[in-house]
Amino acid sequence: MSCKVVLAQGISVSYREELKNTIKTRNICPKLVGFLANEDPAAAKYAEWTAKTCAETGVEFELRKCSRNDLEDKIIEANQDAGVNGIMVYYPVFGDRQDQYLQNVVDVSKDVEGLHHKYVYNMYHNIRFLDEAKTKKCIIPCTPLGLVKVMEYVGVYNGILPHGNRLHGRVVTIINRSEIVGRPLAALLANDGAKVYSVDINGIQEFHRGVGLQLKKHEVSETTLTVEDVLPLSDVVITGVPSPSYKVPSHLIRDGAVCINFSTFKNFDGDEIKKKAAIYVPAVGKVTVAMLERNLVRLYDYQAQDRVS
Ligand code: NAD
Repeated sequence: MSCKVVLAQGISVSYREELKNTIKTRNICPKLVGFLANEDPAAAKYAEWTAKTCAETGVEFELRKCSRNDLEDKIIEANQDAGVNGIMVYYPVFGDRQDQYLQNVVDVSKDVEGLHHKYVYNMYHNIRFLDEAKTKKCIIPCTPLGLVKVMEYVGVYNGILPHGNRLHGRVVTIINRSEIVGRPLAALLANDGAKVYSVDINGIQEFHRGVGLQLKKHEVSETTLTVEDVLPLSDVVITGVPSPSYKVPSHLIRDGAVCINFSTFKNFDGDEIKKKAAIYVPAVGKVTVAMLERNLVRLYDYQAQDRVS
């Protein structure tokens, strides 16, 4: 078996070192507040992890627990507190459209997760900067951004092509089309030039920028293709199915593919996938947290710029 297993820890090292150096050499201490308003053990674990990583890099992290009915007021309080540079909420809280409302209550200038409508809109429309002078990059949601960084690290992005086209010619299947990860990821990768098959429980959509990347931003078309059709065509397979029983059928994976799992459950059969994949990334959580901190430092700088101007 010649499969190379690449761990998130290794991928995140350079980002964490860079953050650590920036924070130390500039003698700054950005503050991130995380709101925990649910009883989900996975959220508590994620919060624990965030706290640990922040302590290592020099970010001040404060976890604030509250009831879900108090959450909106608590977010507004943090929005108004100049000592808080970034805000995140551990979702799901209500598990319905109220969560989407809360994502927009977080002030756009403090939204480290990039879930505010403005950022989401810009991402789908391939608008990469917040200002006309192109000095402020848009904030991109942490998990999709982390997955982009994983793909850069393992060499799926082709560095000799210009930025924005570096996935031209790549075919990617993403098994998950949630609003938090799968759909934004499909849009980001298609905006960067990939042909993406986006799979969910109801079917498959194709995201692409057309032949020769003639379109400025991706478009989406419905397909009648099945997983049996798209997996053998895919250079990269990314999966995030939130179920312990789901397994990507290894026999359909192209020989030499890159396989990445972001679900908390193991969506690939570890032994089988190693017989087929060239590169296997079993989890990405540590890269996600590094992106969260990177977004925080970016927002810290934008806030400082806004205070001066
Ligand atoms: P979700 O429930 O909102 O979405 C699940 C998606 O998977 C949906 O699009 C659904 O249609 C699709 N799906 C489910 N079963 C399928 C099947 N059998 N075939 C094809 N598609 C199927 O979940 P989510 O918020 O996107 O999270 C998914 C997983 O990713 C969870 O395990 C979550 O914990 C994990 N996650 C990880 C990170 C990280 O940074 N590592 C971040 C966010 C979420």
